[in-house]
Amino acid sequence: MRLNDSVGVLTGVGPKTVTGLNSLGIFSIRDLLFYFPFRYDDLQARPLAELADQEKALFKGTVISAPVVSYFGPHKVRLNVRLLIEQTVVIVTFFNQPWLKDKFLPDEEIAVYGKWNESRKSVVGLKVITQNTQNELDPIYSVNKQIRQKKLIELIQSAYQETGELLIDIVPENIRQHYRLLTDSELVRQMHFPKTIQESDAARRTAIFREFFLFEVKIQQVRQTNGQVDDGLQLAYDLPSLKEFIATLPFALTGAQKRVVNEICADLKSPQHMNRLLQGDVGSGKTVVAALAMFAAVTAGYQAALMVPTEILAEQHYQKLVKLFAPMKVHVALLTGSMKGPERQSSLTEIETGRANIVIGTHALIQDTINYAKLGFIVIDEQHRFGVNQRRSLREKGLNPDILSMTATPIPRTLAITTYGEMDISTIDELPAGRRPVETSWLKINQADKALALTRNQLDHGDQAFVIAPLISESDKMSLQNAEDLYEKLSKYFAPKYQVALLHGQMSSDEKAATMASFNRNEIQVLVATTVVEVGVDVPNANIMIIYNADRFGLATLHQLRGRVGRGDRQAFCYLIADPQNEVAVKRMEIMTQTNNGFTLAEADLKLRGQGDIFGDKQSGLPEFKIGDPVGDNNSLVTAHQVALELFREDPQLEAPQNLQLKQYLSELKDNENFD
Ligand code: ADP
Ligand code: MG
Repeated sequence: MRLNDSVGVLTGVGPKTVTGLNSLGIFSIRDLLFYFPFRYDDLQARPLAELADQEKALFKGTVISAPVVSYFGPHKVRLNVRLLIEQTVVIVTFFNQPWLKDKFLPDEEIAVYGKWNESRKSVVGLKVITQNTQNELDPIYSVNKQIRQKKLIELIQSAYQETGELLIDIVPENIRQHYRLLTDSELVRQMHFPKTIQESDAARRTAIFREFFLFEVKIQQVRQTNGQVDDGLQLAYDLPSLKEFIATLPFALTGAQKRVVNEICADLKSPQHMNRLLQGDVGSGKTVVAALAMFAAVTAGYQAALMVPTEILAEQHYQKLVKLFAPMKVHVALLTGSMKGPERQSSLTEIETGRANIVIGTHALIQDTINYAKLGFIVIDEQHRFGVNQRRSLREKGLNPDILSMTATPIPRTLAITTYGEMDISTIDELPAGRRPVETSWLKINQADKALALTRNQLDHGDQAFVIAPLISESDKMSLQNAEDLYEKLSKYFAPKYQVALLHGQMSSDEKAATMASFNRNEIQVLVATTVVEVGVDVPNANIMIIYNADRFGLATLHQLRGRVGRGDRQAFCYLIADPQNEVAVKRMEIMTQTNNGFTLAEADLKLRGQGDIFGDKQSGLPEFKIGDPVGDNNSLVTAHQVALELFREDPQLEAPQNLQLKQYLSELKDNENFD
């Protein structure tokens, strides 16, 4: 058996189990060994007096009477058994596991893992621990219906027995020793079968560093390749045309916009691959920057593409850019997934023949069936919405085009260097002049009508409003505001003077586009929506943003939503309606009312997430790791970054004997996971 073999080679693993394992991301024996538990149940018995109420723990005692099984409803069974633990009689109850009764024999010792009720001196039993479980710690894995804990552990055990010896360390030995890390074989054993908490802690520490280190090494390798290879495109753009285009804009560029346009243009001209991240707060004017850069590529004789995450955005950018480019005789095409028939065919033809200078679309842009005449430059808006693979296939479509990624969720510089270090970073740190910060207030749910009254007043002055709800329709699971109910309510509230409309993700893209268009034309004054309007939507006349159950959204999302208003020159307002359930959520509401600055919010977001804020959301723009948390384990990340830098400085080709395994690992990766 080899580490790269499919899990199917394990005895007792048929096609069904293979499918189950695959659904967990486990394909090879190596994947299985490195599929780590996310926590452990502590199976060390502790004195009862030390346990907190509702704490989970191991209970060891003597069975003092035969267990009693009783039925208390259809399919509801309770098993009660009394144990003597340290001179205390403790009642242990198991629900719906009547077969356990054979395990409890009077006068025999037994161990049960369960939840302690301090006042009643009772336990809700979770599992019976059999004697042959020797470890103090029981690993708990993230599993699903197809693969259960027990099965997974068995498989890991047998895989480890057969191949544990074959694990060769990827992290160079000098680094491993210097940072006192475990070997891969020790790591795998101590993660899955720790004898003590110390062992599992050490394994976790190694696993986190190892994950970060390999990530940073990949980044350095990509940087190195990008820096050395000079077969990238040299887009010799025409500066006078670019200046002419800038002169047609209805406003002067901000200093920051000029600076980043220069940075991007320098990349376009150079023979090296461009891989740049443009960060700038909502409303800082990234779209114009992208338009200028795409225009530059067009003057160099290439096509440029702009990929955005939603159809609404594609549509909107298309409208905007057609207007913007009109004086420059640039032909813009639109391509989205929902386009069908002749409309789609005509776009495809334009892309293939090169008649389209600029193509705007969703991920439809990267389907295999689409051939570009001469794609030289790609802009990816809201880059964290796209996976690495999607970005890669887009790159593969062209002649190794230059790539500019844009994000409205700035991350602090130190974190940007460690997590997006393979990219060069440009930052727009200045808003266009005359922007007034959105005035933000936080209201309790029972004060929501106040926000509506204020909104009516603003509508009377000609403004428009967004109203956001966390759910589309009623859910019995959560008592959250849903968009459909809110739409009913507000339609009545604002009738007959104002039109209210509903927008959500389950509507067809035609419906969505039509609704957005009417809102844009001010035929609709109040738009009730889910977070589909979250990114990029630009309606300058909309000056009010009401967010129901605002505590259900992460700071990054709230800031994005708020960024939808305050784009014109009138004062804009944002009302957060929330009864937050915990301190961290209260802090999120407070910070939103205190600042409009995306960078300040990003810093605060990371701090709160460090405090265990589960609402740090996908919007926050950080890459996802399996074990390490870039915020919580930031020290480890920073160290891994420095170590990787140092490694490539000393041995750029990874030729030293201690680095050969690492080199091998990277070359194998290259074939299936081109990281960019
Ligand atoms: P972002 O994509 O960064 O959120 P946009 O590019 O959508 O921001 O710009 C927001 C609004 O500001 C748009 O209406 C745009 O036309 C306008 N804008 C962009 N740059 C400037 C500028 N330098 N001066 C004035 N308005 C600008
Ligand atoms: Mg934008």
